[in-house]
Amino acid sequence: MTTEFDYDLFVIGAGSGGVRAARMAASKGKKVAVAEERYLGGTCVNVGCVPKKLFVYASQFPELFHASKGFGWSGAEAPTLDWAVLRDNKTAEIERLNGIYNNLINNSGADLFDGRATVTGPHQVEVNGKGYSARVILIATGGWPYIPEFPGSDLAISSNEMFFLDELPKTAVVVGGGYIAVEFAGILNGLGVETHLVYRGPNLLKSFDREMSDKVTEGMAAKGVHMHLSTQINEIIKTDAGISVVLDNGSSLDAGLALYATGRQANTAGLGLEHTNAVLRPNGSIVVDDNFATGDPSVYALGDVIDRVQLTPVAIQEAMVLVDHLFGEGLARIDYGDIPTAVFCQPELGTVGLSEEQARAEYADIDVYLSDFKPMLQTLGGGSDRITMKLVVDRASDRVVGCHMVGEHAAEIIQGMGIALKAGATKAHFDATVGIHPSAAEEFVTMREKAR
Ligand code: NDP
Repeated sequence: MTTEFDYDLFVIGAGSGGVRAARMAASKGKKVAVAEERYLGGTCVNVGCVPKKLFVYASQFPELFHASKGFGWSGAEAPTLDWAVLRDNKTAEIERLNGIYNNLINNSGADLFDGRATVTGPHQVEVNGKGYSARVILIATGGWPYIPEFPGSDLAISSNEMFFLDELPKTAVVVGGGYIAVEFAGILNGLGVETHLVYRGPNLLKSFDREMSDKVTEGMAAKGVHMHLSTQINEIIKTDAGISVVLDNGSSLDAGLALYATGRQANTAGLGLEHTNAVLRPNGSIVVDDNFATGDPSVYALGDVIDRVQLTPVAIQEAMVLVDHLFGEGLARIDYGDIPTAVFCQPELGTVGLSEEQARAEYADIDVYLSDFKPMLQTLGGGSDRITMKLVVDRASDRVVGCHMVGEHAAEIIQGMGIALKAGATKAHFDATVGIHPSAAEEFVTMREKAR
């Protein structure tokens, strides 16, 4: 295939989607290049999912130390955290993963370029001062944290910096009401930082089932996060001790840092896409069709840069569909319905399918099953945690169209529920399933009374 071009596929960006596309194409015997200017593995591996989850684990220990007392343990009441150890162990683990990504790419037979690639034409890429031609160019450059401009916004930091702090502050202000804000508020609070969450809207996690996001808000507050809802920030001022975050209600919060988790924007600036017919939205993300083609038939894009669903497993699926389209049978399709997702806030939120609000809008009649209980760990361990589970059922077909959980292991449990919903499971299927006892998950198959 590569007679007139240097490469069949030139991938810009070695994140989750780009690497998967490169490896799959190379495994089909295609000549592939990948260029990466920053770190192998992209956001997820370096400044996202993976180090975040490690920090979540770290932040959960104080509650476990506390709970251990009720189970007869003593001496574990007041351990102290060495932030530098946590941060550096995390970084060492990420570097190990960077090495694995390096091996995966090299072993696939793809050429890896360490440098910033730019597009110089519909079939041309330049990297490290040298030009290459490619039959297909794939833009998989991901996204970057967005911080709005306002007085003192240069004093705010993004999630990128949170992974490399020199020291933990005594007090932190986290701004935003989405995934990253609630996850980092939980991490900081668990690590012993006085944490203030400031969100401009009345409800955190507003795209989720309202009852569930309310449970998250209550649970976070019960664990000690200071909530400032329906609150905006006017400015941030530098002080001798750190910063002062001035709120629109006239009060201010003295803190060591202000983390802005106010969304992420596509990494397309300076990429040279003006040399192609690719079309960008006002927020910089790339418009693509069902096959991930941009307005230019030789230029494709996927993952966070197309701003459809900013989740690693979605980018990976998109990559597999794209490679099938380009170099396979062309039959694979991506289904953006029923994508399971979890927010690693504390308490954790897992969800798949429709929220109750969405289901009410879509179906004539729905039934809602609800269970709210104390986790078994708390019986001897103490603590205020609850678990809430919810099934939303279309009455006409008996299909379970939404499955939601707040509480421990929600992500692990909802993953399996995702298979059930994908398979079109009915409430009768749930009822016919034998529970695993004693577990929290068994509640999903033992809910018999309709809540409404
Ligand atoms: P989100 O889009 O989830 O949330 C952004 C938040 O910032 C919203 O609450 C939004 O408020 C608020 N906001 C936006 N602009 C402003 C502004 N100018 N001033 C004040 N507040 C503002 O983005 P995140 O940054 O949290 O995460 C980006 C994406 O990364 C997520 O959507 C998710 O897809 C992915 N992600 C997934 C994770 C997971 O799977 N566990 C973990 C982390 C990230 P409003 O609602 O009012 O617009």
